[in-house]
Amino acid sequence: MTRTVYVNGSYLPEDQATISIFDRGFLFADGVYEVTSVLDGKLIDFGGHAARLDRSLSELEMASPVTTDELLEIHRELVRLNEIDEGLIYLQITRGAAADRDFAYPAPDTPPTIVLFTQAKPGLADSPASKTGIKVISIEDQRWGRRDIKTVQLLYPSMGKMMAKAAGADDAWMVEDGAVTEGTSNNAYIVKGNTIVTRQLGNEILHGITRAAVLRFAREAQMKVEERAFTMEEAKEADEAFITSASTFVMPVVELDGQPVGTGAPGPVTARLREIYLDEMRKAAV
Ligand code: PMP
Repeated sequence: MTRTVYVNGSYLPEDQATISIFDRGFLFADGVYEVTSVLDGKLIDFGGHAARLDRSLSELEMASPVTTDELLEIHRELVRLNEIDEGLIYLQITRGAAADRDFAYPAPDTPPTIVLFTQAKPGLADSPASKTGIKVISIEDQRWGRRDIKTVQLLYPSMGKMMAKAAGADDAWMVEDGAVTEGTSNNAYIVKGNTIVTRQLGNEILHGITRAAVLRFAREAQMKVEERAFTMEEAKEADEAFITSASTFVMPVVELDGQPVGTGAPGPVTARLREIYLDEMRKAAV
């Protein structure tokens, strides 16, 4: 089945969808994005992703070409047309294509570009990695200073993934001024006893939609949550570690810089949070 994608108002086969070479997303990484997961053919936390998209757009003084209701309809239509049961929906909005390459923003009436496509991921909620855990290395955080805006400037995170692969690991946690910020495409956590520690919100990290839900469920389950910076040294002494994102949900981390975390196997707090997260979010899916 050929994938159907959405571009600027049209649903098209993926090989017929085009955008301009002058698009500012292409020339300047002048664009924002969201990734929403699909379970049982329904959208997980669509409201959270739509709200963060609005915030990213407004921080960059970028107009949205669609309302939130229209966006929900486009997501649902793509799920339907591509028969997605488990998978992801990628959405990108850029400042559009000016007539030529120019650093200054184009006239405000320049139409933004909007693109959405689906990625089928059968078995997403039951992935082998969620049972075995993943290996993480630490690298220096060399990204720009506004990581709270979900822009498509993903070269350094992409380099980080390659550094992890080269080291025989699955992902990298980025370290700045001695403290962990986050993973290349996820938020980072450690667990000590009944306490979950994760970096506080600020410009230094992306405000994960999964993070917000997981911390809410953790507090409801009487776990203690500390939103503060932690070091790799503290992480290596933790009982458990995990990451969260829309595509991995709650994923155990079993090795940090080649050293086992806790017992070296996925821990009970991580497993419980994953289960609660998936149960609750499936119930609330739209
Ligand atoms: N941090 C970064 C840098 C990310 O790229 C992502 C995922 N896009 C996250 C955290 C997790 O965010 P979410 O839970 O909203 O997917």
